[in-house]
Amino acid sequence: MDDLRDLYQEAILDHNKRPRNFHPLEGANRTVEGFNPLCGDRLTVHLRVDDGVVSDASFEGTGCAISKASASMMTESVKGQRVEAVERLADAFHRMVTTPPGAVPETGTLGKLAAFSGVREFPVRVKCATLAWHALRAALATTGAKVTTE
Ligand code: ZN
Repeated sequence: MDDLRDLYQEAILDHNKRPRNFHPLEGANRTVEGFNPLCGDRLTVHLRVDDGVVSDASFEGTGCAISKASASMMTESVKGQRVEAVERLADAFHRMVTTPPGAVPETGTLGKLAAFSGVREFPVRVKCATLAWHALRAALATTGAKVTTE
């Protein structure tokens, strides 16, 4: 299990232990539930979107350390950003965690989200890391939809 030590970086452990923006969101106008049947992660992402800006974001639910830490860091990263910037960030995150093992992932625009680059070595964990991001994308695209990542 030595490899897992690389996966569970300090930032991920910290966000799992003390998830940020982990609460219902008053004034939310987008709410999407995401479910990852492979792991049993079930997270709900709340957004408030005003004039093309994600003015607030939060999440609730239960999941493994990776899924919770990813949702926690995601909500921190997207708050106050324009929707187009959030979509670019979601693309960059997805590219990073699906970079084949052995290739160098691009983490330039991701800041501390780069902590999840080790996830790509563990295909089952990729679904955990991207769950909140799939819900985020769905929340930007529609209202109240239910998302399942499979
Ligand atoms: Zn999980």
